[in-house]
Amino acid sequence: MSEKVNFGDELVSPEEKTRRVGQVFSSVARRYDVMNDLMSGGMHRLWKDRFVNRVKPRAGEDILDMAGGTGDVAFRMARRGAHVTVSDINADMLTVGEQRAKAKQLAGLTWKVENAEKLNFDDAIFDGYTIVFGIRNVTDIPAALREAHRVLVRGGRFFCMEFSSSDWPGFSNLYDAWASKMIPRIGKAVADDEESYRYLVESIRRFPRPDAFRKMVADAGFVRANAEPMLGGLVTIHSGWKI
Ligand code: SAM
Repeated sequence: MSEKVNFGDELVSPEEKTRRVGQVFSSVARRYDVMNDLMSGGMHRLWKDRFVNRVKPRAGEDILDMAGGTGDVAFRMARRGAHVTVSDINADMLTVGEQRAKAKQLAGLTWKVENAEKLNFDDAIFDGYTIVFGIRNVTDIPAALREAHRVLVRGGRFFCMEFSSSDWPGFSNLYDAWASKMIPRIGKAVADDEESYRYLVESIRRFPRPDAFRKMVADAGFVRANAEPMLGGLVTIHSGWKI
């Protein structure tokens, strides 16, 4: 890829975007979990619970939690008996996750630094692939979706949860108005980092609409690509199957 891409509202080269996304998450890693609670009013916990209920991880399954960050989703799946490989491009986020897993005495987790666009995993080795609030940060999203398809076994399932903007004048518009004003301010107060949190809000606004993203999932080869809106369209769970 050589043309410019968006880093939030700014246009930068693809390499620059990947580098700056790295900076954002290295900067927020230590405060990431408390900020999640503040930014969503604790709602992210319910969204993640519901997401994992959709994924239905089972004992004996191997699941790749991509952009797994500090492990929130992976922990929920490991508690259900699945073996979870938590991968993220950012070693700082994974380090915080490993410390949290140790404190919780959680087993069944493997941690690996990986770029979602180009995975160092063999073909067809995972029963499930999950990516939660991660894909909007990836520079080449179609490449990441193709990689997700490649590493899944036949019958494997893809699940993604992401913020979504919508035309419906509902909760998402209210949240958007609140988020663009308040989240950078909270970021400044709690983490002394206004810019990183401004990027997070802008990246949410720029992520494709649910229908457009559903088409991208289908284009990567997944069948029964589905977009399930939650809470007035603020968050969408996307899914698809590899056959
Ligand atoms: N899934 C976790 C959760 O829901 O709490 C973390 C989400 S956090 C908002 C986004 C994560 O995406 C960060 O940890 C970031 O490092 C990761 N990320 C960004 N670009 C990536 C890429 N190209 N490959 C893998 N991970 C990436």
